[in-house]
Amino acid sequence: MSSTQTFKIASIPGDGIGTEITEAAIQVLDKLAAVDGSFKFDYTHFDWSSKAYKERGWYMPPDGMDQLQKHDAIYFGAVGWPDVPDHISLWNLILPIRKNMNQYVNVRPTRILPGTKSPLESCQADPSTLDWIIIRENSEGEYAGQGGTTHENSPHTIATELAIFSRVGIERIMRYAFETARSRERKKLTMVTKSNAQRHGMVLWDKVFYEVAEDYPDVQHDKMLVDAMTVRMVNNPASMDTIVATNLHADILSDLAAALSGSIGIAPSSNLDPTRKHPSMFEPIHGSAPDIAGKGVANPVGAFWSAAEMVRWLGQGKLDGTADKLMQAIENVTKAGVKTKDLAGNSNTKEVTEAVCREIETVF
Ligand code: ATP
Ligand code: MG
Repeated sequence: MSSTQTFKIASIPGDGIGTEITEAAIQVLDKLAAVDGSFKFDYTHFDWSSKAYKERGWYMPPDGMDQLQKHDAIYFGAVGWPDVPDHISLWNLILPIRKNMNQYVNVRPTRILPGTKSPLESCQADPSTLDWIIIRENSEGEYAGQGGTTHENSPHTIATELAIFSRVGIERIMRYAFETARSRERKKLTMVTKSNAQRHGMVLWDKVFYEVAEDYPDVQHDKMLVDAMTVRMVNNPASMDTIVATNLHADILSDLAAALSGSIGIAPSSNLDPTRKHPSMFEPIHGSAPDIAGKGVANPVGAFWSAAEMVRWLGQGKLDGTADKLMQAIENVTKAGVKTKDLAGNSNTKEVTEAVCREIETVF
């Protein structure tokens, strides 16, 4: 007798379009589970958001991490609203989750989906060659939260922002990146750095990269300064495959990558605890987009792609085919021209969601 596996999902829709795309993603996930038949989802919804913070003064209750720990994965929409400074929303919600849940890897794939246009079409590069996976160090570096301010509110204020790099932290992300590169057809890893100007942390970053590279003789590897990297991403997308970068660098480069692939609205991310002791978290890379929130026009594709990555992660190899089918359904829909405005289409969130749900039935 075959049994249905239940995955417990903590859903945190957050603010703005985060709530709209999370609702759409859950609709698609439930459709996928129903058609596949081998698993289903059991959601707990958490109203942790800037809106709630304004009303009650907190994002997450004191036992928030314990509540999350009871789940197999976390699905996150977006957090942030103009009436709360961004560093408050980030440091009260998403960054503590990443840290406490040991999600030291952030995976951000980028490619151009069928039926969509890349701004690279107006450049010399061939956009069809853009197929990258950015591995972002997600636990330390420039977002370690260390530093301080002295002489506050005076003309002599000094603020320091320390970037912390540990050998352990660097080595584990480098190993993850080499493993990812090895698993892909081109077996190519580009390491991003700024060790010409930053002479401590970035020098250790480079050193550990070359040490780890010795264990992966089958993976081609190269090093790029982050400034030159932005140029290479635009001029020669084909020359890269897997990219590893620090917390800050990868944050910026993945927004650029998303824009080059057509829209920030399609880009997914996975915050992974590779030890699987804690739930991993899946979220589109975009924010709450207050300018389009509440209008029902947000692109849900980044949310769907993140959902596909969640299914892949939860299945531990057994649901790769199901995740691929969701991706196929998404691509069939973009190819057919059912797209939101950011992709030069004229469909809304609901229409794209319904089209993907219909397509899921077709591809199975
Ligand atoms: P964050 O600080 O959380 O990264 P942000 O201020 O960088 O957020 P985003 O919310 O990511 O900004 O988006 C920037 C702009 O891109 C939005 O204002 C919106 O116009 C557009 N955008 C982002 N996500 C989407 C989406 N899913 N669909 C359509 N447009 C989007
Ligand atoms: Mg941003």
